[in-house]
Parts: sequence; structure tokens; C-alpha cells
Amino acid sequence: MRKLFLTAFAIAAWCASAQAQEKNDYPKPEAMRPGMSEYWTPQPKVITPGDIKTNTAPSDAIVLFDGKDLSAWMNSNEGDAEWTVKNGVMTVDKSKGDIVTRQKFGSFQLHLEWCIPKGITGESQARGNSGVFLQDMYEVQILDCFQNETYVNGMTGSIYKQTPPLVNAMRGPGEWNVYDIIYTAPIFKEDGTYLYHPFVTVIHNGVVLQNHTEIQGTTEYIGFPRTVKHDDGPIRLQSHGDPSQPISFRNIWIRPL
Ligand code: MG
Repeated sequence: MRKLFLTAFAIAAWCASAQAQEKNDYPKPEAMRPGMSEYWTPQPKVITPGDIKTNTAPSDAIVLFDGKDLSAWMNSNEGDAEWTVKNGVMTVDKSKGDIVTRQKFGSFQLHLEWCIPKGITGESQARGNSGVFLQDMYEVQILDCFQNETYVNGMTGSIYKQTPPLVNAMRGPGEWNVYDIIYTAPIFKEDGTYLYHPFVTVIHNGVVLQNHTEIQGTTEYIGFPRTVKHDDGPIRLQSHGDPSQPISFRNIWIRPL
């Protein structure tokens, strides 16, 4: 009994000592103050946002088409771009093929406006087909999907043959559609496979069609997505071979991220 009592006494004494030591040796955390979770530098660069009314680009954007000329673009087979420029608008010339930007990009925010001509004819994919290729690899579809059904992973705003758009936000022929595309470039492993896939958010006429969508690989017309290691690449605008009337573009700018 005496032994048990001594043991209990020893344990109690040790606990009291430990508590005392903790109490004495370690300061309590300081009470949180608002300033403890705030930092002030570096301050983001001040820019001037674009003016929606006059279709101007933000002050830090690279203007790819301001209605005057195609100097930022070239024929995809080299040489100057030869699409038609008239009245501040450029129009696909199907006899000249795709055009690509002279400059190459990694991750970016891209703004472009496009218009399906009034009186467009054809159906499904053969009606105002074009597209914008991100880093020259991954197509975000452009198509007249106003009262024109097609396979859903080939609709406007689809990641072509991969991911359909969340909704159909098309404006009718003769009206201007607006794309705002936020793209994160992939990172590759040494063996050429993706460490991180590319991701894209597509906003069409102010409506989200793709919400940080993972891009599986190349956007093939025939076959499934392939993994092809690549570096920075240009923006490509598609001159599609369908027989419908060519579409037009205006007010294109990009902000590397
Ligand atoms: Mg297309």
C-alpha cells in the first residue's frame, strides 16, 4: 500500500513539474492581429483596362489585330498572312489557309471577337467552321452553333473532340461573338509525357463554357488525343475547308501570364 502511494505521489509530482516547466519555459503565441496576415509588397503593376465601348485592349496587352493590318500574323506555311482586311475586320480567305501569330506564347489570356456572316449556309460542322489553336496544338472550336446542331464535343467552345461546352451561348449570324480564353501551358517530363496537362477556361459572350478544363492532348479530327511534347507556340486561326461563307475576326489581343 505504501509502495502504491509513493508511486502515485511520484507520478503526480512529475506531472506538476512538467506543467510548471511548460508554463514557465514556453511563451504563449501572440494574439493574432489583422496586420499579421497582410503583406504589402510587391504591389501589382498598375495597368489601364480596356474600354469595352471602344474595343481597346488593356495597356499591357500585346495587340494581335487592331483592325488595321495583319503584321502580327503570318501564313502558316511562312510568308505574310493574306486574309482580307477591310473596315477594321479581318476575314478568312479559304484559298490561303490558316494564319499563325509571329510571336509564340506559353500561358496567356486571349481576347478575340468573331462573327458568322449573315446568310450563312450549311449545317453541322460545315457552317462557319473555324477555330483558335492554343500554342498551335489545342483547338477551341469556332462554329455557327446558332440553331445548328452538331456533335457536342465539336460545338463552339468545345475542346475539339474532347470536352463539350457547358452551354450554348451563341449570338446569331451578323452579330459579334466574344471569346476570352485563359490558358495554362503544360509542363512535360523528360520522356515527353505530361507532368501537368494544359488547362483552359473559355468565356463566350460573358458566359463560362469551359471551367479550368484539363486538355487531354492534341485535338485530332480523326483519332483520340495524343501527347506531343512542345514548347511555346503561336496562336493559330483556322481556315476550314467547309464550303460555307468565311467568318470574320476583330479586336484580338493577348496577355502572357
Ligand atoms: Mg474548327
